[in-house]
Amino acid sequence: MKNIFTTALLFLLFVGPSIAEPLMSPTSYSKDLYKESILDGNYLSTIENPSKFLDFNYGERVASPAQISSAILSWSKQSNRLKVVEYAKSHEGRPLYAIFISSPENIANLESIKLNINKLSDARNLNDRDAKSLINSLPAVAWMAYSIHGNETSGADAALGIIYHLIASKDPEVTNMLSNMVIVIDPMMNPDGRDRFAKSLEQFRGTSPNYDDQSLLHTGDWPYGRTNHYYFDLNRDWLYLTQPETRGRVALINEWRPQILVDGHEMGAQDTFMTGPPREPINKNIDKNLIKWGNKFANDQANEFDKRGWRFYTGEWHEDLYPGYSFYVQFRGTLGILYEQSRMSEDGVRRPEGTIQSYKEAVHHQYISTLANLKTLQRNSYQMYLDYWDGRKLNVSKNGKYANQTFVILPTDNHGRLNALVSKLEAQDVEIYRNTKVLTVQSALKQTGELVEDFIIPKGSLIIPNRQPEAPLIAAILEFDADIDESVLLEERQANLRDGSSIMYDTTAFNFTMMFGLSAVTVPENLSNNLESWTPFPSSIEINEDAVMWAVNAEDDRSVAFAARLMEKNINVRIIDKDAVLSSHALSRGSVAVLAMDNLNHKDLIDDIREIATDLDISLVSIESGFGTKELPDWGGRHFLLLQKPQIAILSHADFSSYDVGVTWWSIDQYLGIRHSQLNSSMAEYADLRRYNTIVMPSGYADLNGSKKEALMTWVAQGGTLIAHNRSSRLIASSKDFGNVKLLQNTFENSLDYNFDLLKEMAASENTINKAKTLAHGINLDINYPWESSNTQMSEKELQNRDKWQSIFMPSGSMVAGRVDQKHWLSFGTPSTLPILYANFPILMTHDKTEAVVRIGELISNDEIKDFRMINWSSIPPGKDLNVRMSGLVWPEAAQRIANSAYLTRERIGRGQIILFAGEPNFRGSTRGTNRLWLNALIYGAGLGASAKINL
Ligand SMILES: [Zn+2]
Repeated sequence: MKNIFTTALLFLLFVGPSIAEPLMSPTSYSKDLYKESILDGNYLSTIENPSKFLDFNYGERVASPAQISSAILSWSKQSNRLKVVEYAKSHEGRPLYAIFISSPENIANLESIKLNINKLSDARNLNDRDAKSLINSLPAVAWMAYSIHGNETSGADAALGIIYHLIASKDPEVTNMLSNMVIVIDPMMNPDGRDRFAKSLEQFRGTSPNYDDQSLLHTGDWPYGRTNHYYFDLNRDWLYLTQPETRGRVALINEWRPQILVDGHEMGAQDTFMTGPPREPINKNIDKNLIKWGNKFANDQANEFDKRGWRFYTGEWHEDLYPGYSFYVQFRGTLGILYEQSRMSEDGVRRPEGTIQSYKEAVHHQYISTLANLKTLQRNSYQMYLDYWDGRKLNVSKNGKYANQTFVILPTDNHGRLNALVSKLEAQDVEIYRNTKVLTVQSALKQTGELVEDFIIPKGSLIIPNRQPEAPLIAAILEFDADIDESVLLEERQANLRDGSSIMYDTTAFNFTMMFGLSAVTVPENLSNNLESWTPFPSSIEINEDAVMWAVNAEDDRSVAFAARLMEKNINVRIIDKDAVLSSHALSRGSVAVLAMDNLNHKDLIDDIREIATDLDISLVSIESGFGTKELPDWGGRHFLLLQKPQIAILSHADFSSYDVGVTWWSIDQYLGIRHSQLNSSMAEYADLRRYNTIVMPSGYADLNGSKKEALMTWVAQGGTLIAHNRSSRLIASSKDFGNVKLLQNTFENSLDYNFDLLKEMAASENTINKAKTLAHGINLDINYPWESSNTQMSEKELQNRDKWQSIFMPSGSMVAGRVDQKHWLSFGTPSTLPILYANFPILMTHDKTEAVVRIGELISNDEIKDFRMINWSSIPPGKDLNVRMSGLVWPEAAQRIANSAYLTRERIGRGQIILFAGEPNFRGSTRGTNRLWLNALIYGAGLGASAKINL
């Protein structure tokens, strides 16, 4: 009855033209563009066809994450050829699946297959004969993974078909393949990004198909579907492991050590299809055998494309220096294979030759590539295992390339950061030790490139001998410099000079210790004595309820979170801004103290302190007396500064880099877990900014003129702390009247003033003085003034010319040495020399009342130098030298250009302040050294650098 009634009603609704005016139907449909059928096998009727789970025919449109998940879960009940493993949940709660597909016999045997692969991987416990017999027993193992960039959709749709084809096919070709192979399909590596993009396809769709790759349907909208929930590029996270998707995936891949790993992407819509081994630069720690096999796979795949008349290419822009892509597996002996299919979105794309390439064809390309690679592996698995075994032997051999090299991280009280680094290395099966005695070694290479003789390694250092099973990966991520061929340098220089292009695809520096801002050395020998296995530092939380205060040490990054979380509970917190010793506990400058006297009205103070310290796993001491011996700070003096609870907003949306917005947002959630708001930046001029005392401007492209600028300036002058990154810092520094920090190119007419202040700052950090000369009675006429003793002061014209030339060579992601003001509150927990990831950033200049907390260049002693020497606008005093490059490609011209410029500035404006980072301090969630400077700015800024608001 009910149905009839509904039908009748609908009929009534749609009969009259005056009631409903339907949209016009299109003149053609994009599903009719491509007639080939993708799934062309003989299939079991007991397995449901993929189209059953979709509201369209398989391959014609983009399957949503929910549709893909539902197919996988249904198939897991319908077939005994597969086993589904949920290896992670995304931030938004979507499951990530690895689908193990093989013969039912192999599926029942997965654990023992995995065990045997791992036996083969440690050549310290296996001889050649046993290795060969293991290899004979092993099935081939392939890892096929797709769509890590959520808006590169065709891979996941191909994967859906591949799973079906493999579990449903009755063809002997497929069943044979499954008896010899374990195929792992990771169909959708970034479900949150894919969901965002799939949603935008729904939202931007009209009635007619759209073949214009510039339209919103194709491009999507800010923050785009490429990245995950926090706008992280998951294909740069394979080593840094900051995101749950990657952590789960890497753990499973590393357990399985597949022979190949396919990573299916998409690229520009007007491109064709790219695969095959990379071109130079190729990281020197990759086994040459893998390049050989890469060519073999590419060749077979190319044959399949030729047969169908599909265009493709290999190499070209595909290089492989940076080890943090999915290709990290190559350092562990797995062949990485990249697919790059041109992006067709859903409808298809019109190309210059007039044809329209359909989405279904894009899916077909990924599908055929997958089958081709699986067949090549099936044929060559045995030989590849033999090569793998040779590589594993070399890694642990006494005569191999990695035999005599050890990486040492020097002891630090920053246990939080060190523990984090260790967990990332352990995830890669790196074996880590601690020395139980002081070790003296003949020589050691420091991070700044200096080779020190008779180096003493303090007891308790973190020791990683390179001679161990994962040797190539260890070298790739811990060697201070990746070796780059001279021919590559030449080609890069020519490209820079010809048209400003680059042959480098990612950063040229990436070693873990510099990224983490931890001091380390490389020792050219295999350290093996007086070592014990590394264990993480436990925290010790000592709470005496009758103490006058409780404190955590500033050396540990988590001290900032301790302060932030306490303040969010409205507990008063102080910073001790000078090294202190209280009740015989040594506390370094920037340590966080909670005083009982400050919090008399706070109920459960002790419980809150204990709970927060325990959550953070940070050591805490109780202090019974506020008396600091001798000159050290006492609790009633001026070194116990009251903090202000930060009330934070992040300016966000389309004017800003989604990566930098995302990592800013993530850094607060990851490290602090305190409330904050993301503001649509278009609201900045009419929102009530008084709700916030701290505003972050991530790297942006916005124009900072008119009322928006006015609103922010007023807010700063009234006590706000404005923190800007990279492009936003450029905007502020180039904007008239918005503070006094300037861009280098706008300072040449006053270069002498800038140098004057720089020399004053350098002189202030001198720690020796000649008493006799100082106190002489006669007038001293031998004083050296830089502008007199150097005749090389450059004219404005010369500075301009140099700048124009030098700016051609700016780095694209290298490590340079930061020189850190050790008396500034922004540098709590930071050593005097800090590695900084540097790229084409604005070059910030300070003088007069603008402070440079971190400058580029480590100032070192060199007694042979007797005169002042000029580098562009600045000079180096006699007896000094400047180290700039730490790792990666920094052209000498670029080093000159950035030398002595500021990386981090701070300036008081009215009752507030502006803090500028030349770069992006939280890059990829992995530059922990500069992240600490940023956390200090974010949490301590409102209390230490701005005037407190007094609520009457
Ligand atoms: Zn991609």
